[in-house]
Amino acid sequence: MPQLATRFQTLPGYPLADVPAIKRELRAKGVDLIDLGVGDADLAPPPAAVEAMQRAAADPVNSRYSFQLGLPELREEIAAWMQRRFGVALDPFKEVLPLIGSKEGIFHLPFAYLNPGDVAIIPDPGYQAYLGGTLLAGGEPYLVPLRPEHDFLIPLDLLPEDVVRRAKILFLNYPNNPTAAIAPREYLEQVVEFCRTNDIVLAYDNAYSEIAFDGYLPPSILEIPGAKEVALEFHSFSKTYNMTGWRIGWAAGAPELISALQRVKSFADTGVPFTVQHGALAALRSHESWVPHNVETFRQRRDAAVEVLRAAGFDVPVPRGAMYLWVPLPEGVASEAFARKLLLEQGVAVLPGSSLGAGGEGFFRIALTVPESRLREAAERIGRVL
Ligand code: PLP
Repeated sequence: MPQLATRFQTLPGYPLADVPAIKRELRAKGVDLIDLGVGDADLAPPPAAVEAMQRAAADPVNSRYSFQLGLPELREEIAAWMQRRFGVALDPFKEVLPLIGSKEGIFHLPFAYLNPGDVAIIPDPGYQAYLGGTLLAGGEPYLVPLRPEHDFLIPLDLLPEDVVRRAKILFLNYPNNPTAAIAPREYLEQVVEFCRTNDIVLAYDNAYSEIAFDGYLPPSILEIPGAKEVALEFHSFSKTYNMTGWRIGWAAGAPELISALQRVKSFADTGVPFTVQHGALAALRSHESWVPHNVETFRQRRDAAVEVLRAAGFDVPVPRGAMYLWVPLPEGVASEAFARKLLLEQGVAVLPGSSLGAGGEGFFRIALTVPESRLREAAERIGRVL
């Protein structure tokens, strides 16, 4: 066998590689497994989106390559939605780019900007595509622990000077996966200023912008004055509309950033399937009438899980965004050992914090992706292991 590339060898190992097999075995033994490990809700997409996709699939014109341009109406609808939702004006053809899921764009961005020796600043724990894209593009990741004492924000003033000087990309994600933290507006203003001063691309992952509770409305980074000069924002249809498997998202930002990402993509893919774009278009059009009810389901789940976990002795905060609970473990309890014990003894799968980066140690993540009654049951079982 030929030797693997050095870049490839820098990728971290997958700490939970045996977990799918364990889950299969437990199910085969008849264990009543509750899987809260993956951020993939059990809920249905908007009916209008399903119907639009069915109609589109029947038309052979939609079986053809969509290329990077994609469906012009979708670009226009995305721009109109960004205007309605955030008050951000975008040129649909120069400042918007459809993606095969936001992960795809996040992964490809470093290929446009990182030379060897260039740094990407990455939250730890964080979504793994930041790290994977950086490493495979030959860049250098600088991981910053997201800790409760900093409200799970990256403390900009603690970044070493040498890192800041070499940094070309800063990845940020709020509402955050996995910590469920949100970013105050003043912090976002500081981040934009920091990226402008240091000439850094701000890759703002807004995958959870529409899952927020108790009156909180997450902003777009593009609302922040000056952001247009440095920020590329990633949006996803996955979580907002329960469409994870259809694979569609978009990037929004300055024409230079969009065009660089589009050029990388043009060598890697030939666009999002038209049928999926038609589904996404209908989903966006049904946003105002459909999304609030979906969010309310997550809120009820959040409240139920928090209530039972607190009763079981966990000091879990009530998150205002995203679809996760980030639950602190007692001092000295390793998250992976805890998650394994929970799976084997109680049939509940959660994500150990350490699996998303060393900075996640001391926590585990619960995804609110099963019905309320199952979440209550799972939370009770989690309490038994504690
Ligand atoms: N960003 C974050 C923080 C996520 O949690 C996810 C998915 O879990 C994504 C991006 C990718 O979403 P998608 O590629 O489905 O749009």
